[in-house]
Amino acid sequence: CGIVGILGKHEAAPTLVEALKRLEYRGYDSAGIATVNDGTLDRRRAVGKLVNLSDLLVHEPLAGKSGIGHTRWATHGAPTLGNTHPHRAGRVAVVHNGIIENYRELRAELAKAGIAYQTETDTETVALLAQHHLDQGATPEEAVRCTLGRLEGAYALAFLFDGEPDLMIGARKGSPLAIGHGEGEVFLGSDAIALAPMTDRITYLEEGDCAVLTRSSIRITDAEGQPVERQARTIRIDA
Ligand code: GLU
Repeated sequence: CGIVGILGKHEAAPTLVEALKRLEYRGYDSAGIATVNDGTLDRRRAVGKLVNLSDLLVHEPLAGKSGIGHTRWATHGAPTLGNTHPHRAGRVAVVHNGIIENYRELRAELAKAGIAYQTETDTETVALLAQHHLDQGATPEEAVRCTLGRLEGAYALAFLFDGEPDLMIGARKGSPLAIGHGEGEVFLGSDAIALAPMTDRITYLEEGDCAVLTRSSIRITDAEGQPVERQARTIRIDA
């Protein structure tokens, strides 16, 4: 239900949890974060209130300056730990707002290729498809683009990859997603409110956009895969 992402200069986990708190108003039933630390992707998830996630992080901290986070409002699959985002397949971690309408068909296709499902969510398809493309030699960017091309329904998505501490990919269709601009840092968020403590320079993605982010570069393509410029604006929010 809420998405945040950070390629930052500092430890990402505390900022991710803060940003998720700012998205609490949307409602949620579980929450989780993933980070890349020294190239290694890992995640922590908890059912229920965000305090359950922050308590877990006290006992099992998650280091790393790159991260994605999610508050889930379950649509497909009960609000269990196994169904909590981020979802992971191989090198891919993904958070998702919305509904992948054709997930059953995609799941059947993956099953034919011998790829097993571990959750009850529509979202896991996205991680499995992206990893499937990586397995076939695609770069993370290519893997995401091929995956997006297969998805029907509504989504805001944020991806991180094991072995890629300076890469985050975001995409939107039917659910909002914004890029936040920092000094040598870049953020993703469901809305400007989530990003307000980090930055007030915001670029809203448009329908069908895909954004490939590093700390020093932002490349956005539209639904046709053509490079596009999207205006950044300064947003005033009383934090
Ligand atoms: N459809 C996804 C799920 O049930 C995402 C729900 C959301 O937007 O939080 O996990």
